[in-house]
Amino acid sequence: MPLLPEHLLAGHDTFMAGRYAQEQSRYRSLAHEGQAPETLMIACCDSRAAPETIFDAAPGELFVIRNVANLVPPYQPDSDFHGTSAAIEFAVVGLGVRNIVILGHGRCGGIKAALAKDDEPLSEADFIGRWMSLVDEPAHGVKTMEHMTAGERQTALERISIRYSVANLRTFPYVAEREGRGELSIYGAWFDISTGELWAMDGETGDFRRPAVDRPPSAGG
Ligand SMILES: [Zn+2]
Repeated sequence: MPLLPEHLLAGHDTFMAGRYAQEQSRYRSLAHEGQAPETLMIACCDSRAAPETIFDAAPGELFVIRNVANLVPPYQPDSDFHGTSAAIEFAVVGLGVRNIVILGHGRCGGIKAALAKDDEPLSEADFIGRWMSLVDEPAHGVKTMEHMTAGERQTALERISIRYSVANLRTFPYVAEREGRGELSIYGAWFDISTGELWAMDGETGDFRRPAVDRPPSAGG
């Protein structure tokens, strides 16, 4: 058995010859001075929705947390293992990021599972079911929308869950404090895997709009 799958080794060879060679000085200064990303991005594990690819980010630009369905749990200081909360704490308190973006996406398997789940109690071994119970309330609401197709329900919950995560983010005291002082901004976005289109949440209304289409000409050029 090889030490790593062959396609990964080949990919790393390409990286060394291409991107690393081009950005060598940037990598070296990041190694020397440490990272100072301005943006924390909370995205899904889905292999089709990688933030660094979608936003064409350079090394050191994005601090990324990925979990199933890009959810933020509420602030819950107890003795459990809170992987997502630990990373949020580090990004906000340790790195002092200025932006947090919750990035959802179309055809999300986690959201699909939340909508498919029956109302039976979850088994203890069902990590995804337990995790997705963070959006039980909106999932239940969306499931009762008889006039929507399955696809419409899925898109709706993908977007509603982003608003839920934004609200949960604000239960972290240091997030709320920094946002209140104007040192931190919180955004929501939704990526359409099939078209590549990006939708951004309007912070006032919670509606999703396409910045590429809707932003004023002065901002977009
Ligand atoms: Zn997903």
